[in-house]
Amino acid sequence: ADSLGPAWAMDWMERARAAVSANRIELLDLDRAIGDGDHGENMDRGFTAVAAKLTTLAPQSAAEVLKTAATTLMSTVGGAAGPLYGTAFLRASKAGDGALGNTVDAAGVASLLEAAVEGIQARGKAEQGEKTMVDAWLPAAQAARAAADEGRGPVEALRAAADAAAQGAVDTEPLIATKGRASYLGRRSVGHRDPGAQSSSLLLLAAAEAAEA
Ligand code: ADP
Ligand code: MG
Ligand code: MG
Repeated sequence: ADSLGPAWAMDWMERARAAVSANRIELLDLDRAIGDGDHGENMDRGFTAVAAKLTTLAPQSAAEVLKTAATTLMSTVGGAAGPLYGTAFLRASKAGDGALGNTVDAAGVASLLEAAVEGIQARGKAEQGEKTMVDAWLPAAQAARAAADEGRGPVEALRAAADAAAQGAVDTEPLIATKGRASYLGRRSVGHRDPGAQSSSLLLLAAAEAAEA
């Protein structure tokens, strides 16, 4: 496909729900190591609510799906991640609305991911390397932009983003956390993967798989 529409966004959110649910224990364990052990629970609750909400929606655009996800995540996820993911999806939905109409091409994928990471950083003030979800989203947005600039399509842009996010999550392991709860541990956060970077990687993989389906 040259562009992705509301059916892709709906499938993305359904795959995100399934991935978060299937990896709930892993996310809980990661957060138990360097946080308060609730990230899997928070995300599972949030994306279950998103999926339920979306059953009542007949969307005209991908942006509309992402906006519904945003408001639902804000009101259900809680903790640090709720407002961060809520802002990410809200900004992403506005990027979709503004420049792109009802569907998203490769440049649109890049714009959507750039808007998401800008939202996360506006809200959480984390730079790259602070061992947060930014470390997954920022390389993902950069990879999508590079793919778009090379003339590749939206499916390839999302695959590049998902691969970069997965690597970004792995790359949080040696870092010292300086934002969020994990920062209370200081150097003891070293050797553990950031739970929010890992869940972000799952979400971007879900986006790529929905595009490839
Ligand atoms: P809480 O820490 O309130 O229990 P969660 O466990 O749901 O919330 O989410 C923790 C995740 O939130 C972290 O792993 C990290 O990725 C992300 N996070 C926390 N603070 C920030 C921040 N300031 N900027 C970006 N991401 C953050
Ligand atoms: Mg937590
Ligand atoms: Mg908590």
